Amino acid sequence: MTTFLIDGETAIDAGSLTEALPLSAQRRIRRIILTHAHFDHVASLPFLVENLYGRETPLELIAPRAVLSDLRRHVFNDVTWPDFTRLPSRARPTLVYRPIAAGKPVQAGGVTLVALPVDHIVPAYGYLVAKPGRSVLFSGDTMPTQRLWTHARRARDLKAIFLEVSFCDAQAEIARASCHLTPRLLPGELEKAPPRVPVYLYHMKPPSLSRIRREVAALNEPRLRLLDADRSFRF
Ligand SMILES: [Zn+2]
Ligand SMILES: [Zn+2]
Repeated sequence: MTTFLIDGETAIDAGSLTEALPLSAQRRIRRIILTHAHFDHVASLPFLVENLYGRETPLELIAPRAVLSDLRRHVFNDVTWPDFTRLPSRARPTLVYRPIAAGKPVQAGGVTLVALPVDHIVPAYGYLVAKPGRSVLFSGDTMPTQRLWTHARRARDLKAIFLEVSFCDAQAEIARASCHLTPRLLPGELEKAPPRVPVYLYHMKPPSLSRIRREVAALNEPRLRLLDADRSFRF
């Protein structure tokens, strides 16, 4: 369930924020940058919003318009969950949507981010997240893709790439149908990526995990590492 937390106050995706963090840490979160609306990326959002209900500063949901409208239509629609952009009141909401344009740098707290369209089964974006002198790339969910890498190659001081790999090679057909990567597709993506930057793999589906581990090891590519839950990085 994808979630990355940056400086304690900005999250990329919200798959497991309420499970992973105590209430005090949840209350520090100011904004969530969303890659897309799939459940493994937004599952904890309804409960996070509930835990922040009535807070002075609303929680910002940041993403290109297509992703936000998926959330509005399918999650915070007054059926699946209340529309927290009107609660407790329109004037003082718990949740605000902040649509951003793809490809344009925007400021969000202490970081600059750029949404980059990737290739998934629904509208989806990777993000380049930067601070002065350093940047990090998150792929979001994607099949083999191009624009993300073109942009990453132009990024200065790229310190790390977080790249999805969802299924083992035996599940290649499911991966293709659902627009995800398998280990066999990784060398092709690495060729497009900027050289020498470490690549942390995430989003492994549990039934595929042990095979993915073996298949990635067999690629014999020292840049590739499988990410564990609860890891912290300083860039
Ligand atoms: Zn997805
Ligand atoms: Zn996913």
